[in-house]
Amino acid sequence: MKYEMTPDYHRAKGEAISLLQKFGLEKPPVNPMEIAQRLGAKVSFVEFEKKLNNISGFYDFEEDTIFVNMDEYPLRQTFTIAHELGHRILHAEWAKSSDYKVLLREDTGTTDSKEAEANTFAANLLVPRFMLDKYWEGLSATQLSELFAVSVPVIKNRISFEYGA
Ligand SMILES: [Zn+2]
Repeated sequence: MKYEMTPDYHRAKGEAISLLQKFGLEKPPVNPMEIAQRLGAKVSFVEFEKKLNNISGFYDFEEDTIFVNMDEYPLRQTFTIAHELGHRILHAEWAKSSDYKVLLREDTGTTDSKEAEANTFAANLLVPRFMLDKYWEGLSATQLSELFAVSVPVIKNRISFEYGA
């Protein structure tokens, strides 16, 4: 069954923040691989075959494993792990109720609501507002990128979204 629905950004953000609280994570950088492993999921860095090499990663529900493209640069891998962890947390019911085994991550921007939710989850997990509040005015985007261990575009998106700056 294929259906479109409005992304539930509020839920995606809420799940990310409650995970940070659950594990007592109050300062950047947030390590999504550590969180995934503490939740019992596996993270595996693999070499994808050429035709799949535009994929950053995917989550296999049956194996409870996040597969990450080992050719991607580290900051992108971090975001991918957080994004796929979002699918694990937000979309498990859907995945189990359908014949999908994996959720492939396309490199192109997508309007799919589950992708949008996973991205919102990842953004709020890695760069939560309550952490950003403490640093964003005093540091450059490059410094924030290093502090939060995410790419500069992710930092800029978060600042733009939260503060309209
Ligand atoms: Zn995805």
